[in-house]
Amino acid sequence: MSTSSHAPIGTGHINHGDMNRGHITSHNLPIPQRALAIGAHPDDVELNAGATLAKWAAGGCEVSILVCTDGSKGTWDPHANLTELIATRQAEQHESARRLGAVGDIVFLGHVDGELDSDTQARTQVATNIRKLTPDVILGHDPWKRWRLHPDHRNAGWLTTDGIVAARDPHFLPELDLTPHRPTTLLLFEADEPDHAEDTAGYEATKTNALQAFVSQYETTFNLPLVPTEPHLAEFHQRIANQLTQKGAQASLSSAELFKRIDNL
Ligand SMILES: [Zn+2]
Repeated sequence: MSTSSHAPIGTGHINHGDMNRGHITSHNLPIPQRALAIGAHPDDVELNAGATLAKWAAGGCEVSILVCTDGSKGTWDPHANLTELIATRQAEQHESARRLGAVGDIVFLGHVDGELDSDTQARTQVATNIRKLTPDVILGHDPWKRWRLHPDHRNAGWLTTDGIVAARDPHFLPELDLTPHRPTTLLLFEADEPDHAEDTAGYEATKTNALQAFVSQYETTFNLPLVPTEPHLAEFHQRIANQLTQKGAQASLSSAELFKRIDNL
Protein backbone atom coordinates (compact mmCIF):
# COMPACT_ATOMS: atom_id res chain seq x y z
CA MET A 1 0.00 0.00 0.00
CA SER A 2 1.21 3.43 0.83
CA THR A 3 0.65 5.86 -1.94
CA SER A 4 -2.02 8.48 -1.62
CA SER A 5 -4.34 6.51 -3.86
CA HIS A 6 -4.37 3.48 -1.58
CA ALA A 7 -7.53 2.76 0.30
CA PRO A 8 -6.80 2.80 4.04
CA ILE A 9 -7.00 -0.45 5.97
CA GLY A 10 -10.65 -0.71 6.93
CA THR A 11 -11.72 -0.70 10.52
CA GLY A 12 -14.41 -3.34 10.07
CA HIS A 13 -14.40 -6.64 8.25
CA ILE A 14 -12.00 -7.00 5.38
CA ASN A 15 -13.40 -7.02 1.90
CA HIS A 16 -10.63 -8.55 -0.10
CA GLY A 17 -11.31 -10.49 -3.25
CA ASP A 18 -9.76 -13.53 -1.64
CA MET A 19 -12.62 -13.99 0.82
CA ASN A 20 -14.92 -15.92 -1.45
CA ARG A 21 -12.80 -17.52 -4.13
CA GLY A 22 -10.12 -20.11 -4.09
CA HIS A 23 -9.79 -23.26 -2.10
CA ILE A 24 -6.97 -23.78 0.36
CA THR A 25 -5.30 -27.09 -0.46
CA SER A 26 -1.80 -26.46 0.90
CA HIS A 27 -0.53 -25.52 4.36
CA ASN A 28 2.86 -24.41 5.67
CA LEU A 29 5.88 -24.72 3.43
CA PRO A 30 8.98 -26.14 5.07
CA ILE A 31 10.82 -23.10 6.45
CA PRO A 32 13.05 -21.97 3.58
CA GLN A 33 16.74 -21.24 4.03
CA ARG A 34 16.37 -17.97 2.16
CA ALA A 35 13.25 -16.02 1.18
CA LEU A 36 12.87 -12.87 -0.91
CA ALA A 37 9.73 -10.76 -0.57
CA ILE A 38 9.09 -8.24 -3.36
CA GLY A 39 6.75 -5.31 -2.76
CA ALA A 40 5.79 -2.20 -4.70
CA HIS A 41 6.15 0.16 -1.72
CA PRO A 42 7.58 0.10 1.78
CA ASP A 43 4.93 -1.71 3.93
CA ASP A 44 3.36 -3.90 1.19
CA VAL A 45 5.40 -6.94 2.16
CA GLU A 46 4.60 -6.52 5.86
CA LEU A 47 0.90 -5.92 5.24
CA ASN A 48 0.53 -9.04 3.15
CA ALA A 49 3.11 -11.49 4.46
CA GLY A 50 4.58 -9.97 7.62
CA ALA A 51 3.53 -12.74 9.97
CA THR A 52 4.76 -15.46 7.61
CA LEU A 53 8.14 -13.76 7.24
CA ALA A 54 8.40 -13.30 11.02
CA LYS A 55 7.67 -17.00 11.52
CA TRP A 56 10.27 -18.05 8.97
CA ALA A 57 12.85 -15.61 10.36
CA ALA A 58 12.32 -17.05 13.84
CA GLY A 59 12.92 -20.48 12.33
CA GLY A 60 16.26 -19.47 10.87
CA CYS A 61 15.26 -18.30 7.39
CA GLU A 62 17.32 -15.45 5.92
CA VAL A 63 14.59 -13.03 4.85
CA SER A 64 15.40 -10.35 2.25
CA ILE A 65 13.03 -7.61 1.09
CA LEU A 66 13.03 -5.81 -2.26
CA VAL A 67 11.01 -2.59 -2.61
CA CYS A 68 10.41 -1.49 -6.19
CA THR A 69 9.45 2.19 -5.74
CA ASP A 70 10.66 5.10 -3.66
CA GLY A 71 7.35 5.61 -1.85
CA SER A 72 7.38 9.28 -2.78
CA LYS A 73 3.61 9.61 -3.06
CA GLY A 74 2.89 8.20 0.38
CA THR A 75 1.61 11.36 2.03
CA TRP A 76 -1.48 13.54 1.97
CA ASP A 77 0.62 16.63 2.74
CA PRO A 78 0.82 18.65 -0.51
CA HIS A 79 3.81 20.58 0.87
CA ALA A 80 5.84 17.54 1.95
CA ASN A 81 9.56 17.45 1.17
CA LEU A 82 9.65 14.35 -1.01
CA THR A 83 13.39 13.81 -0.64
CA GLU A 84 12.88 13.62 3.11
CA LEU A 85 9.85 11.37 2.66
CA ILE A 86 11.85 8.90 0.56
CA ALA A 87 14.61 8.78 3.20
CA THR A 88 12.05 8.40 6.00
CA ARG A 89 10.34 5.53 4.24
CA GLN A 90 13.62 3.72 3.66
CA ALA A 91 14.53 4.11 7.33
CA GLU A 92 11.08 2.82 8.30
CA GLN A 93 11.54 -0.18 6.00
CA HIS A 94 14.84 -1.03 7.66
CA GLU A 95 13.29 -0.74 11.13
CA SER A 96 10.30 -2.84 10.12
CA ALA A 97 12.57 -5.55 8.73
CA ARG A 98 14.56 -5.50 11.98
CA ARG A 99 11.34 -6.00 13.95
CA LEU A 100 10.40 -8.94 11.70
CA GLY A 101 13.79 -10.50 12.30
CA ALA A 102 14.73 -10.19 8.62
CA VAL A 103 18.52 -10.42 8.47
CA GLY A 104 18.91 -10.59 4.69
CA ASP A 105 19.32 -7.66 2.30
CA ILE A 106 16.89 -4.74 2.06
CA VAL A 107 16.96 -3.57 -1.56
CA PHE A 108 15.38 -0.37 -2.89
CA LEU A 109 15.07 -0.17 -6.67
CA GLY A 110 14.00 3.46 -6.34
CA HIS A 111 11.48 3.74 -9.16
CA VAL A 112 9.18 6.73 -8.83
CA ASP A 113 6.11 5.85 -6.79
CA GLY A 114 3.08 5.47 -9.05
CA GLU A 115 5.20 5.18 -12.20
CA LEU A 116 6.58 1.64 -11.89
CA ASP A 117 6.82 -0.14 -15.24
CA SER A 118 7.30 -3.87 -15.75
CA ASP A 119 9.84 -3.15 -18.46
CA THR A 120 13.05 -4.92 -19.39
CA GLN A 121 15.24 -2.61 -17.31
CA ALA A 122 13.26 -3.14 -14.11
CA ARG A 123 12.95 -6.88 -14.81
CA THR A 124 16.73 -7.05 -15.10
CA GLN A 125 17.07 -5.34 -11.72
CA VAL A 126 14.78 -7.92 -10.10
CA ALA A 127 16.49 -10.84 -11.83
CA THR A 128 19.89 -9.54 -10.73
CA ASN A 129 18.79 -9.54 -7.11
CA ILE A 130 17.27 -13.02 -7.42
CA ARG A 131 20.56 -14.35 -8.78
CA LYS A 132 22.55 -12.60 -6.04
CA LEU A 133 20.29 -13.53 -3.11
CA THR A 134 19.46 -17.08 -4.31
CA PRO A 135 16.12 -17.37 -2.46
CA ASP A 136 14.36 -20.73 -2.18
CA VAL A 137 11.00 -18.98 -1.91
CA ILE A 138 9.92 -15.70 -3.48
CA LEU A 139 6.83 -13.78 -2.39
CA GLY A 140 5.16 -10.98 -4.36
CA HIS A 141 1.95 -9.26 -5.46
CA ASP A 142 -0.49 -11.31 -7.54
CA PRO A 143 -0.39 -9.56 -10.95
CA TRP A 144 -3.53 -11.41 -12.06
CA LYS A 145 -5.70 -9.97 -9.28
CA ARG A 146 -8.90 -8.80 -10.92
CA TRP A 147 -10.13 -5.24 -10.71
CA ARG A 148 -6.96 -4.05 -9.08
CA LEU A 149 -6.50 -0.34 -9.68
CA HIS A 150 -3.03 0.45 -8.40
CA PRO A 151 -0.57 0.01 -11.27
CA ASP A 152 2.48 -0.30 -9.01
CA HIS A 153 1.06 -3.41 -7.34
CA ARG A 154 0.19 -4.93 -10.72
CA ASN A 155 3.60 -4.12 -12.20
CA ALA A 156 5.49 -5.27 -9.09
CA GLY A 157 3.65 -8.57 -9.56
CA TRP A 158 4.72 -8.81 -13.19
CA LEU A 159 8.30 -7.94 -12.23
CA THR A 160 8.22 -10.79 -9.71
CA THR A 161 6.99 -13.43 -12.16
CA ASP A 162 9.04 -12.15 -15.10
CA GLY A 163 12.10 -11.58 -12.94
CA ILE A 164 12.03 -15.24 -11.91
CA VAL A 165 11.98 -16.35 -15.54
CA ALA A 166 14.90 -14.08 -16.40
CA ALA A 167 16.84 -15.20 -13.30
CA ARG A 168 16.47 -18.94 -13.86
CA ASP A 169 17.32 -19.40 -17.54
CA PRO A 170 20.96 -19.37 -18.64
CA HIS A 171 20.47 -17.48 -21.89
CA PHE A 172 18.84 -14.55 -20.14
CA LEU A 173 21.15 -11.72 -19.09
CA PRO A 174 24.55 -13.31 -19.74
CA GLU A 175 26.06 -9.84 -19.35
CA LEU A 176 25.34 -10.00 -15.60
CA ASP A 177 27.98 -12.69 -15.14
CA LEU A 178 25.84 -14.16 -12.36
CA THR A 179 24.93 -17.82 -12.04
CA PRO A 180 21.29 -18.44 -13.00
CA HIS A 181 19.08 -19.23 -10.01
CA ARG A 182 15.80 -21.13 -9.98
CA PRO A 183 13.72 -20.68 -6.80
CA THR A 184 11.61 -23.59 -5.56
CA THR A 185 8.31 -21.86 -4.86
CA LEU A 186 6.53 -18.58 -5.60
CA LEU A 187 3.87 -17.36 -3.16
CA LEU A 188 1.64 -14.58 -4.50
CA PHE A 189 -0.03 -12.36 -1.90
CA GLU A 190 -3.24 -10.37 -2.40
CA ALA A 191 -4.07 -13.45 -4.44
CA ASP A 192 -7.16 -13.59 -6.58
CA GLU A 193 -7.53 -17.31 -5.93
CA PRO A 194 -5.42 -18.31 -2.91
CA ASP A 195 -4.68 -21.98 -2.45
CA HIS A 196 -1.98 -21.94 0.23
CA ALA A 197 -2.07 -20.92 3.90
CA GLU A 198 0.76 -20.17 6.26
CA ASP A 199 -0.22 -20.66 9.89
CA THR A 200 0.61 -17.38 11.61
CA ALA A 201 -0.59 -18.15 15.15
CA GLY A 202 1.78 -16.51 17.61
CA TYR A 203 3.11 -13.99 15.09
CA GLU A 204 0.23 -11.51 15.11
CA ALA A 205 1.98 -9.08 17.47
CA THR A 206 5.23 -9.24 15.52
CA LYS A 207 3.35 -8.32 12.36
CA THR A 208 1.64 -5.40 14.09
CA ASN A 209 4.93 -4.24 15.58
CA ALA A 210 6.61 -4.35 12.17
CA LEU A 211 3.77 -2.36 10.59
CA GLN A 212 3.97 0.25 13.35
CA ALA A 213 7.48 1.06 12.16
CA PHE A 214 5.87 2.78 9.14
CA VAL A 215 4.99 5.90 11.10
CA SER A 216 4.69 8.04 7.95
CA GLN A 217 1.85 5.79 6.78
CA TYR A 218 -0.33 5.96 9.89
CA GLU A 219 -2.75 8.46 8.38
CA THR A 220 -2.75 7.46 4.71
CA THR A 221 -2.72 3.68 4.93
CA PHE A 222 -3.34 2.53 8.50
CA ASN A 223 -6.30 4.77 9.33
CA LEU A 224 -4.55 5.97 12.46
CA PRO A 225 -4.00 9.51 13.74
CA LEU A 226 -0.57 10.99 13.04
CA VAL A 227 0.17 10.72 16.76
CA PRO A 228 -1.77 7.70 17.96
CA THR A 229 -2.49 6.98 21.61
CA GLU A 230 -2.18 3.56 23.22
CA PRO A 231 -5.88 2.77 22.63
CA HIS A 232 -5.45 3.64 18.94
CA LEU A 233 -2.50 1.27 18.67
CA ALA A 234 -4.36 -1.44 20.59
CA GLU A 235 -7.27 -1.11 18.14
CA PHE A 236 -4.82 -1.30 15.23
CA HIS A 237 -3.36 -4.52 16.60
CA GLN A 238 -6.84 -5.95 17.00
CA ARG A 239 -7.61 -5.04 13.39
CA ILE A 240 -4.50 -6.85 12.13
CA ALA A 241 -5.21 -9.85 14.36
CA ASN A 242 -8.82 -9.96 13.12
CA GLN A 243 -7.65 -10.04 9.50
CA LEU A 244 -5.38 -12.98 10.28
CA THR A 245 -8.26 -14.72 12.07
CA GLN A 246 -10.61 -14.22 9.12
CA LYS A 247 -8.05 -15.53 6.66
CA GLY A 248 -7.28 -18.43 8.98
CA ALA A 249 -10.95 -19.40 8.99
CA GLN A 250 -10.67 -20.21 5.27
CA ALA A 251 -7.95 -22.72 6.07
CA SER A 252 -9.28 -24.18 9.34
CA LEU A 253 -6.59 -22.29 11.22
CA SER A 254 -6.90 -19.75 14.01
CA SER A 255 -4.59 -17.32 12.19
CA ALA A 256 -3.17 -17.35 8.67
CA GLU A 257 -1.87 -15.46 5.68
CA LEU A 258 -3.07 -16.75 2.31
CA PHE A 259 -1.24 -17.05 -0.99
CA LYS A 260 -1.44 -18.47 -4.50
CA ARG A 261 1.32 -21.11 -4.56
CA ILE A 262 3.26 -21.82 -7.73
CA ASP A 263 5.83 -24.64 -7.75
CA ASN A 264 8.02 -26.12 -10.46
CA LEU A 265 9.46 -22.78 -11.38
ZN1 LIG B 1 1.64 -0.50 -1.98
